Amino acid sequence: MILAPGTAILTYHSISDDAAWLPWSKDITVSRQSFAAHLQTLKAMAVPVLSTRDYVAMRQRGDAIPPRAVVLHFDDGYFDNWCHAVPLLVQHGFPATFFVSLNFVEPGDQVRTPDDRPGYMCWAELRAIEAIPGLEIEPHGIDHARIAVAGAPVARLNAENWRDHLWLQWAASPGPKHDWHCRPMAWAVPLGSAVPPSRLALASPGLSGTTMETESDLATRVRTTLDQCSATFARELGRRPLIFCWPENKCSAAGRAIAHQMGYAATTGGKGRNATVEASSVLSRIHVPDRSLGFASPRAEAFALRALIGAMHGNLYWYPALLAMQLTRRVVRSARQIIAGGGRTKRRPLRSVTISMEQTT
Ligand SMILES: [Zn+2]
Repeated sequence: MILAPGTAILTYHSISDDAAWLPWSKDITVSRQSFAAHLQTLKAMAVPVLSTRDYVAMRQRGDAIPPRAVVLHFDDGYFDNWCHAVPLLVQHGFPATFFVSLNFVEPGDQVRTPDDRPGYMCWAELRAIEAIPGLEIEPHGIDHARIAVAGAPVARLNAENWRDHLWLQWAASPGPKHDWHCRPMAWAVPLGSAVPPSRLALASPGLSGTTMETESDLATRVRTTLDQCSATFARELGRRPLIFCWPENKCSAAGRAIAHQMGYAATTGGKGRNATVEASSVLSRIHVPDRSLGFASPRAEAFALRALIGAMHGNLYWYPALLAMQLTRRVVRSARQIIAGGGRTKRRPLRSVTISMEQTT
């Protein structure tokens, strides 16, 4: 029941007590109390917490990775990371990597006072984070884009569901869109429009007009995205990026090869446990949920974190616990939804998350 040792790369998104501005907050937001409990758990476990760059460099040199190692990732660049995650990471002395999508970085040259405003970090805050030893900024693409593919519409936009299909608005709004949550309802694609089936834009060919892209077209889009990330990082942070985080962890083999050719040391989207038999250029991550049993409990979150880490490290005895927690969570959430009169819980198509070794956003 013990597999080859792995490294647990834990992925967070929003760290907030009030992230209602995010339509997918129930799936990706971890409360400040739970996050603090997680960091206390890491401390109590006495696990070595490595930065991504150090971990990748050690793997590529062939150095032994410290047993039971953990790496911390934060996706999407939410402002609450600056307000609530960074101070606790600094307090504990834990390294971490923050992945940002260029079109969602807010304008502004001033570091802002931490508060509970919605939105994303600006480059001044990202520079301030990178100035802290152990904390790193790396790219998460440009626009977190999905692309339409051929097929029957999956829905029609209305006042209730348009936020579930925000990718349509984003895809129709080239350029900065950090303020999407302040824009009027369905600002770019009107209500009543058909929602086509879609895939992750950096992982699959999609429709260009009415024509399906070729694999070569996809490769061009991936190369353009990685180029733009490199250029923007050089301008804003004075260095090239080293690690690339694919939106929703979806990529193609060709995309990985392009990233490697362009000098990226590693990219996300792996489906393993970062064992030494796996490619050092592929990072396998696991999403850290909150309310693991469907309700708030710092003790349950601490136990859930131990289970996630233990499973990634190769201890299969933790899997039944993970499955039981996942089932309990679904039952509790569905029951609450029914009691509230809203029918069964609907899984969001863009950000559905389960406690799984393969799936993170
Ligand atoms: Zn993301």
